[in-house]
Amino acid sequence: KVRTRFAPSPTGGLHLGGVRTVLFNYLFTRQHNGEFILRIEDTDRTRFVEGAEQYIYDTLAWCGLNPDESPATGGPYGPYRQSERKAIYGQYAEQLVKDGHAYYAFDTPEELEAMRNDYKTEANPSPRYDSTLRDKMRNSLTISEQETKDLIAGGTPYVIRIKAPENETLRFTDLIRGEVEFNSSETDDKVLLKADGMPTYHLAVVVDDHLMQITHSFRGEEWLPSSPVHILLWKYLFGLENMVTWAHLPLIMKPDGNGKLSKRDGDRLGFPVFAMNWTDPRTGDFTKGYRELGFLPEAFVNMLAVLGWNDGTEQEVFSMEELLEKFSVERIHKKGAKFNYEKALWFNKEWIKKSSADKLLPHVQYYLHNAGIDTTGNNDTLLSIIDQVKDRCTLLTDFVEQTGFFFKAPTTLDLDAILKKWNEQKNSFFVELIRSYELTQDFTPENLENSFKELAAASQLKPGELMLPLRIMLVGGKFGPHVFDIASTIGAKQTVSRIKFALG
Ligand code: GLU
Repeated sequence: KVRTRFAPSPTGGLHLGGVRTVLFNYLFTRQHNGEFILRIEDTDRTRFVEGAEQYIYDTLAWCGLNPDESPATGGPYGPYRQSERKAIYGQYAEQLVKDGHAYYAFDTPEELEAMRNDYKTEANPSPRYDSTLRDKMRNSLTISEQETKDLIAGGTPYVIRIKAPENETLRFTDLIRGEVEFNSSETDDKVLLKADGMPTYHLAVVVDDHLMQITHSFRGEEWLPSSPVHILLWKYLFGLENMVTWAHLPLIMKPDGNGKLSKRDGDRLGFPVFAMNWTDPRTGDFTKGYRELGFLPEAFVNMLAVLGWNDGTEQEVFSMEELLEKFSVERIHKKGAKFNYEKALWFNKEWIKKSSADKLLPHVQYYLHNAGIDTTGNNDTLLSIIDQVKDRCTLLTDFVEQTGFFFKAPTTLDLDAILKKWNEQKNSFFVELIRSYELTQDFTPENLENSFKELAAASQLKPGELMLPLRIMLVGGKFGPHVFDIASTIGAKQTVSRIKFALG
């Protein structure tokens, strides 16, 4: 049975790269009728951020990528929060020491610093804790068993390090990269258990992937260099039995292709990198998210799916159903994928265009509500308006401008657009128009347009010159659908009162 996991550390908002990792895990799992697990990797308490876990749930729910097992839903392999599994990791670390694959290290931070200075050479400017140095340091391999026991009994802080072998070839088959090979000498004696008894990522990820019976893991390419340590742990702890199959996803690159996309790039280059708004409770720093900016979740997910994958045709717009049908690991690219915000906007426009008014309704209501515009009881009107304007909207927030004036008279008018050509004659025309509209029985767009044109002819004015002023009076600016459709929708009372307000 296929079991995959997304294993974020709750250290901040969820970056779009993180959501893409979820998506690929999710698609692969659903295609295999498997189970998708959310595990919270919160063992680094110094980086823990309050609220980050809830943010992850909210984001996955918004994207429609809910896990089958998680700290929130529970499941047969819990607990799913690593901080609640502390005792488990300790046992495995001790087992490794017993088997001679790991050891206690008592070095203080000062001693480690001194080691780096003492053994620094031009060829090796930052010496690592590994076979070249471990026998020169204070650890259970260099001191006697009794000394080790005494130090531990006396409460001396220690860590447990893996004893990385020399010149061993470590291999695995990556779902995306194929055969990958490392020499074990490339890795140093990584800390497995920290002085506070918490595991490091390396130990926890292997133990949990094993205990939770994870079969496949899609993760970012930045974790590829960690895989040799993980293979060693799989070998020492579980004899490589049922080792997880990795798929290291291509990096998401900056728009210019120059380096990996980072959280800072968004602020600097003017696009969001987080799925939803995020305020860091420690610093108060605020970062914009796709949701609040007005992206449809379908568009956001679609945009992520094609960051490093395509189906081999020209098709770019994919629904979740199509992705479930067409996604294939074989077509994930090895090369980094350039992120392009303009393209993200294009996806959103396409998705708004192709979505029915029914489907857009709750979204539009959400943004109107946030803008202080109440549409309760007006669903039918709103639905027909959405149909009229949706082709002009790129972001869902555009609906506020495009539909808000139907429900709320504009308070500021873009008079600059008409004042230059304003005159007494036009003023009288609108005074006449008010009178005529007050008397109009059937307030249909056709009737309104006809009486408008008749009056214009009587005043010897061109209707074309009067349309823009009427639009500004009714909606506040140069936007919106056909102006007589607007007047007819808002009705006689509103139309007349808005013209009166504008005339002052
Ligand atoms: N906790 C790691 C992270 O924050 C997970 C990496 C993995 O999937 O192995 O990304």
